[in-house]
Amino acid sequence: MTATGEVNERQARQVAEEAREARWDQPSFGKELFLGRLRLDLVHPYPRGSAEAMERGEAFLAELREFCETQIDAAVIEREAQIPDKVIQGLKGLGAFGMKIGVDYEGLGLSQVYYNKALALVGSVHPALGALLSAHQSIGVPQPVSMFGTTEQKQTWLPRCTREISAFLLTEPDVGSDPARLHATATPDGDDYLLNGVKLWTTNGVIADLLVVMAQVPPGEGHKGGITAFVIEADTPGIVVTNRNAFMGLRGIENGLTKLTDVRVPAANRIGREGEGLKIALTTLNVGRLSLPAVCTGAAKWCVKIAREWSKERVQWGRPVGEHDAVAGKVAFIAATAYGIESMV
Ligand SMILES: Cc1cc2nc3c(=O)[nH]c(=O)nc-3n(C[C@H](O)[C@H](O)[C@H](O)COP(=O)(O)OP(=O)(O)OC[C@H]3O[C@@H](n4cnc5c(N)ncnc54)[C@H](O)[C@@H]3O)c2cc1C
Repeated sequence: MTATGEVNERQARQVAEEAREARWDQPSFGKELFLGRLRLDLVHPYPRGSAEAMERGEAFLAELREFCETQIDAAVIEREAQIPDKVIQGLKGLGAFGMKIGVDYEGLGLSQVYYNKALALVGSVHPALGALLSAHQSIGVPQPVSMFGTTEQKQTWLPRCTREISAFLLTEPDVGSDPARLHATATPDGDDYLLNGVKLWTTNGVIADLLVVMAQVPPGEGHKGGITAFVIEADTPGIVVTNRNAFMGLRGIENGLTKLTDVRVPAANRIGREGEGLKIALTTLNVGRLSLPAVCTGAAKWCVKIAREWSKERVQWGRPVGEHDAVAGKVAFIAATAYGIESMV
């Protein structure tokens, strides 16, 4: 970065490349597809998981479905642009905030498959529910702490994350897909760091108890410096949510603009080493990439249901409209697309 804060293309690319995962332990079906090879052996037969994991997953899905059908009114979320508190409390009671947290840390320890199925289920009710649950456990505090935290950090935060809400603060007004421009700073001060900066598009940031924040540590004596990740109590003095952002098509998301002014964070709250923050953030986001398609799967399948029901019920020109070729073609397209999305997830 220059003295004026400008970042050229080479520097931007270098920061992103350095944070890239360099080792792959598992083969990738998706990558092989892009290389023109259909590696069917990687997805067939479909992996089912253990009988015990399936039983636990199915039992949770049944409870969640019952809750969604009887306790959530999507029209209220849509009208008021807010998830009612009793819904959030109910989801906490079911353990939905700890779906992916291991049983050793008081979570439900669901597999990724059942986590995705649960997100698809809530996604069929209202997308804000998927945003709430997935921002918390796909990218919020549980994911980076599970992957990169010390045993002590896991013991401190993971049980809390089964009943509290967390958010992931990487993006800034000037920093979207290009993290080299990251301006938030974490300046060493004794055994602590002082954080300053502005974070934008913070899903759950408006109501979160815990935050994971990425900030630049300036290099200095005893400090390698670089983008670094911290877990922070959301009520730490100096943290102010100055705006709740409204999203078209995603009413009810608790997304904010958060200002950090001289926020004191103990070094014990740093995840990984200085300079590892972007790698931690991008690896976390990679895991998160599965959850939004899962939420969309729920919405897509709900659309199929509505389209099929209405096209059977609505009669015009002597037949249900679904029996007219033009409509039948559209319903088939919607069903095939939903099937494609779900299969890809
Ligand atoms: C609903 C929602 C929730 C979010 N939640 C969070 C959150 O919880 N935490 C968080 O930190 N952030 C969050 N974000 C922010 C999100 O991660 C950013 O929007 C994302 O990183 C893209 O940044 P940007 O919007 O600034 O777009 P920009 O980076 O400004 O990009 C604008 C456009 O240019 C294109 N573009 C940019 N660079 C290139 C290139 N090199 N080549 C080709 N095209 C390019 C992009 O694809 C895009 O179409 C959220 C955003 C949304 C919409």
